[in-house]
Parts: sequence; C-alpha cells; structure tokens
Amino acid sequence: MFDFLQITLSGREPLEHSGSNFNLRWRWLARGVLQLEPLHGYRMNVVLSAGIHGNETAPIELLAALVSDLLHGKRRLKVRLLVIFGNPMAMVSGERYNQIDLNRLFSRHYDHFPDCIETARAEQLELLVRDFYDQSNEGERLHFDLHTAIRESHHQRFGLLPHTDKGLYGRSLYSRRMLDWLHHSGIEALVINQAPSGTFSYFTSQHCHADSCTLELGKARPFGHNDLNQFALINQGLISLITGINLLPYAAEPIKVYRVTQELIKITEQFRLNFSESVKNFTRFSAGDVLARDGEISYQVQQTEEWILFPNASVRPGLRAGLMLVQVPTDSLFG
Ligand SMILES: [Zn+2]
Repeated sequence: MFDFLQITLSGREPLEHSGSNFNLRWRWLARGVLQLEPLHGYRMNVVLSAGIHGNETAPIELLAALVSDLLHGKRRLKVRLLVIFGNPMAMVSGERYNQIDLNRLFSRHYDHFPDCIETARAEQLELLVRDFYDQSNEGERLHFDLHTAIRESHHQRFGLLPHTDKGLYGRSLYSRRMLDWLHHSGIEALVINQAPSGTFSYFTSQHCHADSCTLELGKARPFGHNDLNQFALINQGLISLITGINLLPYAAEPIKVYRVTQELIKITEQFRLNFSESVKNFTRFSAGDVLARDGEISYQVQQTEEWILFPNASVRPGLRAGLMLVQVPTDSLFG
C-alpha cells in the first residue's frame, strides 16, 4: 500500500493507480489527489483539502493519517471522498506558494495571471473537483479546505464562509448540518465573506453547489513539529464525517459569527498599519480608531466595535492588507 503523503512529496506516481480493500475502492487521480469510494453506498460527497498553502503542515498530516487508516482498512468509509494536497511543490519547499498564492486563483482567476505552477494547479483542481461532484447525482456535497494561520488569534479555530447568494432564492444561506458539524468540531467562530473571491471554497460553493468552508485551525509549524493534540477535535470531526459514526462531544459555548464590514486595501507603498504587526486576529477596535494610513487616505473604525482579521502590510499594492469584521447574530447564517 502506498503512502499518499510521501508519494505526493516525492513527485513520483504510485505503481498502481487504483485498488480496493474490503470496504472501499481508491483511485489516484493526479499528484496529491486521491479519490476513495465505499463499496456499499454513501450519502455524501466530501472534498477535504489541505496544503493549498504549502507550509500549513498540520492539516496535511491529519489528512495523511486519515487516508492511511482508510487504505489499511482501519476505518470504514461511508462517504465518497476526494482528498487533495493542494500545492505539492510549495509543500516540498516549505513555503506558502512558489509564485502566486493558489488560494486567489480559483473560479478562473488564473486566467488573469502569467502561467506558472499555481495557475496550472488551480485549473487542474477545478476540473478534478467538478468531475468528482458531477459523477454523483445523489447526496449532499461538502468541501472543507483546511488551513493554519500565520499569526496568533483570539479564536484558536475559526471558519471562513464563502459569499453566497443562495438566500436570494428563499433558501438558507448556509447548511445547518454543516454549521452544527463545525460547532461540535471545535470551531469557535465563523466569518461570513461579503464578496466573491478566488478561494478554493468559494469555487466549490458557487460553481459546484457544495456547502463549503475554509477552516483556520491554529498556528503553522514545520512537518513533524505540530502539536496534533491541538487538532484533536477537528480530527474527531473529520473521522465522524467520513465514517458516519458520531464521536463528537456536546459543544457548550455558542459559536460567534462575524461578517466582513470593510477591507483595508493597500494602494501605494506608503501604506502603514497604525498598530503593531504582531496584533492577534480578532483584536477589537472602537469607533474612530485609525487602523491604517496610505498617503492622504486613512482607514478608521466605522462601527461601534470592529475586529481585525489577517492584517498584513507587506502585500503588494492593490491587494488586501486586512479585513475588518463586525459581530452579527447567528441567525444571519440562515438568511
Ligand atoms: Zn492558508
């Protein structure tokens, strides 16, 4: 039996491209892309991805262990499953990406950039994921894209929900089942995006009609140096999801919900944040606080309270240097 992570890092192809055990059939579709199907029925089509940013190792290790258990028959698979290691070349070099952040390139955003490893990979992953979902007419479609954050955070684990216009048609904006699962898997907060984007989860939500979420699961460390205990709940969650056996504890704390209220766009090289670069994600600011200056422009807190997410003044001009959030009631998730 091959080791999916090792073979992905090596760049080699496995000797066999497909196989089966008493429980499932597997197919190696491309470097870092493995499809697994139970032999006897399923209710869900699940895509799990990690390593879209190559240096975010802990979720890669979690998925590698999960795949190994499945291939060795230690767990019974109850869903159709596509496991993706997003950016193998960046994983090998231990970097976020080689030339362009892969998580900005989906939904054909790759068309607007010069050809490189990442543009080709975004196009390939879109095709493979579309095919995976299209091959099944039945069952829910889910996608969790697993990440770790660069900075410390007041919420250790949180989810980013892609913008959706589903609610316009009288349906719930986001699936209650998915939200329940996130809550019981230790996700402390959710952030609702207000606009379309080039992320992998926006692509699967908008173009494949999946219930999707980008998960930020803690801090990134090099391979082998992760404290996997920190990821125990999400690991339990993933096992519950794919085996259909509920292993999750009751979650007492309600999940906090935020929505993006403004973006800090770096327009020129003069852009400066008005607070320490090391500030934690979800740090709170009050009305009137100056957040950043860019020449003549100043960004201020407009609501009574706003929370900062992903501040980064070193992005290229034209890109987003931070998001400001407001808290909203949980009902906002359901339109
Ligand atoms: Zn990431």
